[in-house]
Amino acid sequence: MQIQSKLPAVGTTIFTVMSKLASEHNAINLGQGFPDFNPDPKLIEAVHQAMLQGLNQYPPMPGHAALRERIASKTLQRYGHHYNCDTEITVSSGASEALMASFLAFVHAGDEVIVIEPFYDLYVPAIELAGGKAVPVPMTPPTQNHPYYRVDWDLVEASITSRTRMLVINFPHNPTCSNLRPQDLDALEQLIAKYPLLILSDEVYEHLTFDQQAHLSLATRPSLVERAIIVSSFGKTFHATGWKVGYCCAPAVLMTEIRKIHQYMVFTVPTPLQAGLATYMQDPSTWETLPAFYQEKRDYLLQGLKHTRFTPLPSEGTFFLLASYDGISNESELEFSKWLTRAHGVGTIPVSAFYQNPEHPASNHKLIRLCFAKQKNTLDEALQRLANV
Ligand code: PMP
Ligand code: GLN
Repeated sequence: MQIQSKLPAVGTTIFTVMSKLASEHNAINLGQGFPDFNPDPKLIEAVHQAMLQGLNQYPPMPGHAALRERIASKTLQRYGHHYNCDTEITVSSGASEALMASFLAFVHAGDEVIVIEPFYDLYVPAIELAGGKAVPVPMTPPTQNHPYYRVDWDLVEASITSRTRMLVINFPHNPTCSNLRPQDLDALEQLIAKYPLLILSDEVYEHLTFDQQAHLSLATRPSLVERAIIVSSFGKTFHATGWKVGYCCAPAVLMTEIRKIHQYMVFTVPTPLQAGLATYMQDPSTWETLPAFYQEKRDYLLQGLKHTRFTPLPSEGTFFLLASYDGISNESELEFSKWLTRAHGVGTIPVSAFYQNPEHPASNHKLIRLCFAKQKNTLDEALQRLANV
């Protein structure tokens, strides 16, 4: 039978491809972003207790009430905005489902959606499934004076047409590891004052910012809150990527539409995980201690790479850092990453995978992404192998 694919250009995600290759070659996997250590035993115990207490049937469609309350109080405490638990917060099956539901809810056939390139792999296929067209706007690469990728807001504005429905941003940024500055939020405020845009803000790494930099959530600015859907992930925050629990916050008029999709896509997410998270989050130190915890790991990998032929780039957020292999090889990022896995036993992610045309020379800057959400001995072993390159 002839099947007409809805996503003819889509294959298997780079994360799956590289994790499979790493496991086939017994490589240390610094590719796909996940911790190689367990969540806090207190969190596991809280989930266990929830199961024993009988919290094993469907929770409410928008999420377990106590968890939505915790999300509301955390957002208020950190960013100063109060979302209504009943109408403005939904617990989702990972950030992924909240993102997909948002695209399906707001992107109509023929709409354009601006994505900042490089971008997380889910966005473009999701936009296309909704019948929309992704319009990539390249980030400005690092320079001597400003060693971080940043958004060129003039270029974003120049890409807005009468069909532009939405702008997607993701900070702390995967894969470039850069954070928002106050002037970025100023630029966003100016944009939405001029154009009727929604902003989908993927803030899954909101708790992973370093060097005393606070995460600048869109929830810190009242004018942005009105137009924004903010998405986060407990997988990233509490070292439990396999639990697939995330959430989104948005004004009630937007959330009503997101829930119409959410209720039919998954209806809701596992009750004991939600209840356990709610209990665990009573203690704010569970997330407040994360920047220091991950900064130590970032610095360890960064320092270690200085004893190899790789050149690390600074990372101000996420649990990744980029490293250049300039001077080591002229191969494309994908070929180099595969070779590194096979020949030296270290799995990484080619940054080119986050571009619309991964094979194009303009998408290849001799950069690989390494995940430092690993135990010290894992990082030691990876560094030893990288030193042999
Ligand atoms: N957005 C970004 C930028 C990510 O890196 C990830 C990674 N996992 C996701 C969304 C998806 O999060 P989740 O696993 O909670 O669905
Ligand atoms: N977000 C993770 C990363 O960037 C991967 C998630 C996935 O495998 N889909 O590595």
